[in-house]
Amino acid sequence: MNPKIASFLDSSALATPCLVLDLDTVARNYAALRAALPAAKIYYAVKANPAVEILRLLVEKGACFDAASLPEIEACLAAGARAEAISYGNTVKKPAAIAAAHAHGVPLFAFDSIEELEKIARHAPGAKVYCRIAVNNVGADWPLSKKFGTSIARAKELMLTAPRLGLQPHGLSFHVGSQQTGTPAYEMAIAEVALLFTDLKNHGLELKMLNLGGGFPVRYQDDVPETGVFGHAIMNAMTEHFGNDLPDMLIEPGRAIVGNAGVVVSEVVLVCQRMEEDERRWVYLDIGRFGGLAETEGEAIRYRITAGRGASGPVVLAGPSCDGVDVMYEKTPYRLPLDLSAGERVLIHDTGAYVTSYASQSFNGFAPLAEHYI
Ligand SMILES: *Cc1c(COP(=O)(O)O)cnc(C)c1O
Repeated sequence: MNPKIASFLDSSALATPCLVLDLDTVARNYAALRAALPAAKIYYAVKANPAVEILRLLVEKGACFDAASLPEIEACLAAGARAEAISYGNTVKKPAAIAAAHAHGVPLFAFDSIEELEKIARHAPGAKVYCRIAVNNVGADWPLSKKFGTSIARAKELMLTAPRLGLQPHGLSFHVGSQQTGTPAYEMAIAEVALLFTDLKNHGLELKMLNLGGGFPVRYQDDVPETGVFGHAIMNAMTEHFGNDLPDMLIEPGRAIVGNAGVVVSEVVLVCQRMEEDERRWVYLDIGRFGGLAETEGEAIRYRITAGRGASGPVVLAGPSCDGVDVMYEKTPYRLPLDLSAGERVLIHDTGAYVTSYASQSFNGFAPLAEHYI
């Protein structure tokens, strides 16, 4: 574990469950992405972890922000971000939120349907818009695309319609799925959208921007390619398909900026044998699916989990609530020390992204996850 977090844990008697997040790691991740893709502007996907400490740090580093709602936009502004540095990236927005974002000076709005485009035209007249394309999410552990994006053919119609509605057709976007473990999805998506750039140019519409979304992975249990490998693959694909005529490039990393910066400190509530035919112990922690570990749904994200020392044996991991789906890992083989007992600490590593923001308000009376930014 990161020595800064380790010494914080040693020096403080922390009430659990809580997240401890090292801001230096966030700064390093941001620098690594900048170095890997110097041609791209970084729009931090606020939903990964909206803590004000993180937003302030990224403002200081010169980052831009991908916000999904008016409260996220206002959190960025409160942390010192300029409105021009914010993109309203959700393709599903309330009219009042669009109008308020526009009034704040947010310049960029995403859409993927004619209905949303008309809504933006009405409530943010003259705004820059970009259309989200649905792309193959192969290689992603946490895919997104069925809910978002449109076809190339539909996007072409919509981009040609935008000027008639008084909007500025600015660019295209895609998202290759979160925790994307390979480069091919980016390469395929770039090839696809490049054809639409050319097609629209032939119709007299010159787009200025390509938003390559997020997806950059964190190393949980398995190795993933380094940030630089993604940078190389993306730049190669960009020059192959756009030549010297590169559009402005944006990326929207969330997980890769904050994921490996945080550790959840949890306490064992109960260890017991449940069924005679299953020799595995059930370990119930004071955090579960509703306390923030929502990405254990389908056991999609498999965090590294450690406790004590000594000989280990197989376990099922569950949360503390009275809900039957509050089981984190039943199929994925996890092992914990054989002498593990109630009251001991368990660490859930690389939980800086998509954990605090997913924690429920007070399901079963459990308070939202406590947070320490160091
Ligand atoms: C969630 C999201 C992101 C961030 O994705 P990561 O996989 O965490 O990098 C970026 N862009 C949009 C539009 C998103 O919805």
